[in-house]
Amino acid sequence: MAEPNTPFPLTASRSEQIFPTLTSAQIARVAKYGSTRTVHSGEILVDQGDRAVPFLVVISGELEVVRPTGTTETLLLIVRTGQFTGEISTLSGRSAMARVRARQDGEIVQLARESFLTLVQTDAELSEILMRAFILRRAELLAQGMGDAAVVGSSHSADTLRIKQFFTRNGHPYTYIDLERDTDVQNLLDHLRVSVAETPVVICRGETVLRNPTNREIANCLGFNEAVDRNRVRDLVIVGAGPAGLASAVYGASEGLDVLVVETYSPGGQAGSSSRIENYLGFPTGISGNELASRAYTQAQKFGAQMLLTTGTRLTCDRRPCEVEVEDATRIPARAIVIATGAKYSKLPIENLSRFEGAGIYYGATFVEAQVCSGQEVIVVGGGNSAGQAAVFLAQSTKHVYMLVRGPGLTDTMSKYLIRRIEQTPNISLLTHMEVVSLKGVDHLEGVTWRNSKSGKSEEKNIAHVFVMTGANPNTGWLYGCVVLDNKGFIKTGSDLSPEELTGAHWPLTRRPYLLESSVPGVFAAGDVRGGNVKRVASAVGEGSIAISFVHQILRE
Ligand SMILES: Cc1cc2nc3c(=O)[nH]c(=O)nc-3n(C[C@H](O)[C@H](O)[C@H](O)COP(=O)(O)OP(=O)(O)OC[C@H]3O[C@@H](n4cnc5c(N)ncnc54)[C@H](O)[C@@H]3O)c2cc1C
Repeated sequence: MAEPNTPFPLTASRSEQIFPTLTSAQIARVAKYGSTRTVHSGEILVDQGDRAVPFLVVISGELEVVRPTGTTETLLLIVRTGQFTGEISTLSGRSAMARVRARQDGEIVQLARESFLTLVQTDAELSEILMRAFILRRAELLAQGMGDAAVVGSSHSADTLRIKQFFTRNGHPYTYIDLERDTDVQNLLDHLRVSVAETPVVICRGETVLRNPTNREIANCLGFNEAVDRNRVRDLVIVGAGPAGLASAVYGASEGLDVLVVETYSPGGQAGSSSRIENYLGFPTGISGNELASRAYTQAQKFGAQMLLTTGTRLTCDRRPCEVEVEDATRIPARAIVIATGAKYSKLPIENLSRFEGAGIYYGATFVEAQVCSGQEVIVVGGGNSAGQAAVFLAQSTKHVYMLVRGPGLTDTMSKYLIRRIEQTPNISLLTHMEVVSLKGVDHLEGVTWRNSKSGKSEEKNIAHVFVMTGANPNTGWLYGCVVLDNKGFIKTGSDLSPEELTGAHWPLTRRPYLLESSVPGVFAAGDVRGGNVKRVASAVGEGSIAISFVHQILRE
């Protein structure tokens, strides 16, 4: 009997989609974009950590994909005649997570990443087969925790949660080793020469051990930014990869623009922290924000957009081309810029709040947070749609959800369908005129005091998980007055800019700003960061895509 393709436990139907076999006619079409070469048994074609990973199709012989860990290897996959290597990293240009070696002498077709992108942008049939396989392969790696990184930490630690969220929201597979649950963990820590006090640790590619690393250190260790050229003048730099930024990236790149997205944290923005978006067109049963973002990001990458995981720290708009300065002081020049930096969550006015952020205080309710408080009582603060969604989602896995709102009810602030769902969920209690006034605990949250503002009565509860969903403020501090803002700090655009404001901003052109254009020509704002925007995923996506038609006009001017 033939060896199975992969040691992963896959169903037969999925297996055919994950490891399709191309026909000889399809292989011939692929070959037009690359070259054909012979390979010899034992030859390493791609090594873990390699950059600029090629796409390989087997014409004859066999390849094996293995995950090296120290001196040992785990077999992930055998690639047979007509099958191909690659997954999402092939699109993004990020470093290889595994090693690819010839098992037998044979012949392969090899395509460089740029040629592979041209293939998937040009050949619709092959694009569907290859993109579906890549997406499913990544999903399988995520589900199996099979990547080039491992996290060792405690489930009670805020930093462990932060690191797990960073991997999850960036769609990067990792293995999690729980300090409290995994029996062999002490041996592993001894081997790594790491004490429990130094956890969480991240092990990159089985080699480098990072002690409680920042997100940036993780990104650098795994080479997230290696493939990005920061010096080239781009047609379009987008700052922020929430729904607005991702929409700009998809439309811009698909229409032939050279697009770079600068994002602090991960694709998805606020929407990425939503457990289920039910009002986005085309998803009648809802979609998690993370899934929507990951699909959009894959789509943007397919069209050649690139992402740099760093923060835009300053916009330089007194010279042409404008530049976006990032954390390491590099200035990225761009013919046009879309600012899509959205908004950040409002915080509770409680003195010791920051001590518990990630250790009992959360600003998003996704699968990762739900796991931490499974079976326990939780509090959701806020009366908007995001709070409603969080309450309904958390009610599925927790013992009880207390929804705290400052006002008399939800009707003025929440969609009807969510109010109905909350009313019909027996383990959600709505507490009106209520606010959290103090938090207690040592390493993580242990208790909360809430107060009824009408009766003045306070009550202490032993609840260790509070989800804060109380609105957001615009992320415009980094613009340092480069563009005109409204009185709440949102960016003014188009006809909202008065002649006096344009004169004050030294608007240099005879035409007025286009729709979504700020007080600086060629600098646009889209999504929640824009004054007057309706704070919804659909409007962010709409504005992000509309901005592209004006970017084309700017590039022609
Ligand atoms: C929990 C939750 C649930 C929600 N549910 C729904 C829903 O069901 N339906 C709906 O329509 N809307 C929902 N919303 C609102 C919706 O998510 C937002 O309107 C939408 O995400 C706005 O998109 P955006 O791209 O404008 O900004 P954001 O989503 O805020 O994204 C901005 C991005 O910019 C990045 N960024 C910020 N500053 C910088 C910088 N200086 N440099 C680089 N990057 C930067 C951020 O990290 C972020 O990724 C929800 C919001 C939340 C918080």
